[in-house]
Amino acid sequence: AYRKGGYHAVRIGDQFAGGRYIAQRKLGWGQFSTVWLAYDTRTSNYVALKIQKSALQFAQAALHEIELLQAAADGDPANTKCVIRLIDDFKHAGPNGQHLCMVLEFLGDSLLRLIKYNRYKGMELSKVREICKCILTGLDYLHRELGMIHSDLKPENILLCSTIDPAKDPIRSGLTPILEKPEGNQNGTSTMNLIEKKLKRRAKKAAAKISGRRVSIVGLSETPKKNKRNLDGIDMRCKVVDFGNGCWADKKFAEEIQTRQYRAPEVILQSGYSYSVDMWSFACTAFELATGDMLFAPKEGNGYGEDEDHLALMMELLGKMPRKIAIGGARSKDYFDRHGDLKRIRRLKYWPLDRLLIDKYKLPEAEAREFADFLCPIMDFAPEKRPTAQQCLQHPWLNLRTQNNEDQIEGQMSNMQIKGSCS
Ligand code: ATP
Ligand code: MG
Ligand code: MG
Repeated sequence: AYRKGGYHAVRIGDQFAGGRYIAQRKLGWGQFSTVWLAYDTRTSNYVALKIQKSALQFAQAALHEIELLQAAADGDPANTKCVIRLIDDFKHAGPNGQHLCMVLEFLGDSLLRLIKYNRYKGMELSKVREICKCILTGLDYLHRELGMIHSDLKPENILLCSTIDPAKDPIRSGLTPILEKPEGNQNGTSTMNLIEKKLKRRAKKAAAKISGRRVSIVGLSETPKKNKRNLDGIDMRCKVVDFGNGCWADKKFAEEIQTRQYRAPEVILQSGYSYSVDMWSFACTAFELATGDMLFAPKEGNGYGEDEDHLALMMELLGKMPRKIAIGGARSKDYFDRHGDLKRIRRLKYWPLDRLLIDKYKLPEAEAREFADFLCPIMDFAPEKRPTAQQCLQHPWLNLRTQNNEDQIEGQMSNMQIKGSCS
């Protein structure tokens, strides 16, 4: 993929935007881009540098992403609405072509990483609740104030706010800025390798010091020793990222949106969609945080495809899809007969959400019911009946005060003294 039109190969120490940004290490990557931790020499801060592949279609996609990110930044000058902040953007010429680059505020680990770190065991509901509040704040802002649909909400695209600021605390985070492009040395090993090794060692030491108590860019990378990690002290504030698939609600361009497991039924059936597709994905994400399992993990089977399995799984959890909705989409005939029954999957085992949470995930009955009461309306088969993000924020489940909740609030207060940004 590192060829003409493809990724830009980055080495630690590489300079961007006339020397303003200096690459430190790789943070992640996707189909279209690589994301690097970079040092901003102008502000002495760390930033995330997203470098797009250079071919025309990728450049166009990046321009679109920048447009959405810019609108989100313009509408939220105080940066309090739980959406990733675009700091800068520029073009970078490399051997594979011109690459559009986005400079984003530097955040911590993704919720997917958090779920893995917790060994897929599910988190306390008090933590899930704090995360849900952030995601809903972000969605409410995108939907109601900006008129934007994210269309790819999932744990991977929600990042925790790092409680460690590498610029202010370079020792604990294992990072000090690399300001020079490293040169090769005599005996064949490049200095780059040496620096990478040194960085890794330093990061390891720092991780040991932090001993898993706080989320940082390194804090979650250790292998958990116990079954379930102690997540005490981890600040559950987070932000919605990755606007590469986002769109304006009145200017949609794709029929097939969302990552499979988080895809709403109206997208599968192609009956038209709007903001409420994000709400569907939100409910899937909240369930996954609480249980460690994906809510829907469809597979193709003997004589039926992934889509039909997906619809079957939805109906096993939520009951039969109303006939009008089942037969109302452009693709309905592929999956449903005229009575509104699936064509190839005939026997469904109904297992409603509250029972699933109690029987399979061993949640106490009262907690399971309250959580299911919160989630079920968001997964209404009728998209227009789903509550909006704004309405969800008013739901009593989000405002339950439990002992854990109070501990968490106390924890947040002490964290805020450590680092006052990322609100
Ligand atoms: P693509 O569109 O190329 O498939 P993507 O859109 O999924 O990629 P992102 O989700 O924006 O790209 O970023 C990929 C990964 O990089 C993220 O999952 C995360 O691990 C890391 N990352 C992105 N932005 C940041 C950031 N601001 N701070 C820290 N890490 C980040
Ligand atoms: Mg992504
Ligand atoms: Mg993307």
